[in-house]
Amino acid sequence: MNEWAGLSDLVASALLIGGIKAMSHPRFAHRGIVLAGWGMLIAVVGNVSVYSHLAPATWLWAGVAILLGGGVAWLTSRRIAMTAMPQMVALFNGLGGGAAALIVVTELLNPASLRGLTLGFGLIALTIGSLSFGGSLIAFLKLAGRLRHPWRFRHQNELHLIWFGLIALLAVGFFTLPQTRDLTPIFVILAVGLGIASTGPIGGADMPVVISFYNALTGLAVGVDGLLLRNPALLIAGTVVGASGTLLTRLMAKAMNRSLGAVLFSHFGATLEKGTGEAEASKEMDLTDAAVSLAYARKIRIVPGYGLATAQAQHKLAELTEWLIHKGVEVRFPIHPVAGRMPGHMNVLLAEAGVPYELIQDLEEANPEFSQVDVVLVIGANDVINPDARNNPGSPLFGMPILEVDHAPKTLVIKRGQGTGFAGVANPLFTAETTYLLYGDAREVLNRLLAALKSL
Ligand code: NDP
Repeated sequence: MNEWAGLSDLVASALLIGGIKAMSHPRFAHRGIVLAGWGMLIAVVGNVSVYSHLAPATWLWAGVAILLGGGVAWLTSRRIAMTAMPQMVALFNGLGGGAAALIVVTELLNPASLRGLTLGFGLIALTIGSLSFGGSLIAFLKLAGRLRHPWRFRHQNELHLIWFGLIALLAVGFFTLPQTRDLTPIFVILAVGLGIASTGPIGGADMPVVISFYNALTGLAVGVDGLLLRNPALLIAGTVVGASGTLLTRLMAKAMNRSLGAVLFSHFGATLEKGTGEAEASKEMDLTDAAVSLAYARKIRIVPGYGLATAQAQHKLAELTEWLIHKGVEVRFPIHPVAGRMPGHMNVLLAEAGVPYELIQDLEEANPEFSQVDVVLVIGANDVINPDARNNPGSPLFGMPILEVDHAPKTLVIKRGQGTGFAGVANPLFTAETTYLLYGDAREVLNRLLAALKSL
């Protein structure tokens, strides 16, 4: 490696680590993304100089690949709706895993390049990268709503175990057989297939944990590639992504009150059983009455959910909040860790709309206060406030910690109709004695609510 590549790796790693650190706070998250992006660019440009001896045709192919991949990523990222971000993350993450696996495939084409320990590491990276590729594709289809029903049958886990055993057996073949060229495609097909087969039975409600788990796997595969190729930029970037993905997986699993083992193997949360409280009718409230409830309250909690994001209602919400605070009302925003469709989704939306970070509460801080506030305004949230998660063992949400809005003396809920949340189950909170529905698109309802407040 030449000095330029070494220096660029150092600068890129510093930018990447600094970027990830900045992303841990919503106020600096944007800056963090930009820093990490520069880091990636510097790493790519710096490492290109290592290959200056390659033939012009190879350079041409590499240039076409970089332009094509970069162009598609740039275009999709610009066009994608904020609410479709999770499936895009799942897809790009899968492609990262696939790329890490392909690096090993090219090394395996030259049997002399991987031997002993390096062959072992190569096969680990190939397995993890292929698993992550296959699994992330299924996560992408599930998050995009193109694969609604988890496929499950008896002894599925046992079948996956045998499948994994076959992969391990093939791995032994790489060390013992004289000719291993033909093993590689079979190995890849089996590993990608296992990723697909083992993600299929996992229910939609567990997807937040699954995405972050595959993110950690991709990071790990890239890190091992870095070891094989003796490339510090890959090694550092992969390790950082692997470590942060592992931490995120733990956080998401804690937020869903699941262990990773339960998510991957028990397939809990897969059955879309009916929740309770569907038979009773909900009560509607007109906007003037809702405005009066808010205007004369002392303490209000506003719980945002996925519906706020789809309606792009965060700016209207910020305007309404400003009006209430100006009138002396205490407003706070309890945010559930898995509200919306990606980790930190609601924090990002509210930060984008300029809601002060100090007004945001986490689950632990918010729950003891719900019984002491005057009104809770729920905007497009459903699963994260479903009391069945606490009370109904038959619910796929059972065991997930929720925002305990049902303890509040009065709850106003903005939603469009009788739609269920991501988990597809009914929510008894919507038919509770103390709950009133304001039907309509979140942005329109907030717009009219603000007008009604101003006219009081
Ligand atoms: P939910 O998806 O549970 O509920 C959304 C609610 O918003 C629905 O009740 C829907 O009802 C309403 N809604 C939809 N569009 C609008 C609109 N335009 N205006 C007003 N209301 C609207 O959201 P939550 O945030 O409560 O829960 C998040 C769910 O997503 C959890 O199950 C979580 O596990 C899952 N998830 C989270 C991820 C993450 O990382 N955060 C990743 C993947 C999944 P209606 O149709 O009647 O309007």
